[in-house]
Amino acid sequence: MTDRESEDGAEEESQPELCDWCGAVVSDSTEWYSVVPDSSAVHSSDPVLDGKRMVVGCSREHLAELVEQYKRRPFVAGELFAGKIARVLEQHPEGLSEEDLVRETGLTAAQIEVGAMWQNLEFLRWRKEFGDDSEPSE
Ligand SMILES: [Zn+2]
Repeated sequence: MTDRESEDGAEEESQPELCDWCGAVVSDSTEWYSVVPDSSAVHSSDPVLDGKRMVVGCSREHLAELVEQYKRRPFVAGELFAGKIARVLEQHPEGLSEEDLVRETGLTAAQIEVGAMWQNLEFLRWRKEFGDDSEPSE
C-alpha cells in the first residue's frame, strides 16, 4: 500500500470504481469503459439510455471479456419494457390508467402487455426458485 497522499479520513464517500469482471478496485484511472446492450438496464430518468449498460474493466482484456459476456446475454424486449413500466409506476404510486402508462412509458399498449407478461413469468420463476411459501397479503 503506497497511497499516503495527504487526504486520509475526511474525504466524502467516493465510490471506488470496480472492475465488473474480476472485482478489482480500479483507482488510478486505468479503467476501460464500454457500453453494452442489456435489456435489464433501465436508466433512472433518461429513456434514451434504456437497454444500455456501461461496463468497467480494469484492463482491456477484462473489458473484452465483459463485452463478450453481454453479447451472449439474450436481449429480451419484454424485460426492457417491464423496466420502463416499473420506472413510470415508481413515479406514480397512486396508479395510472393504461392511456397514461402508454404516454409516460413511450411504449405501445401491445408492448406494455409484453412487459407485463414478462414480469409475471419472472415472478413465477422467482417464486419457484426462492420458494417462499408465505402468501403475500393483499
Ligand atoms: Zn478486472
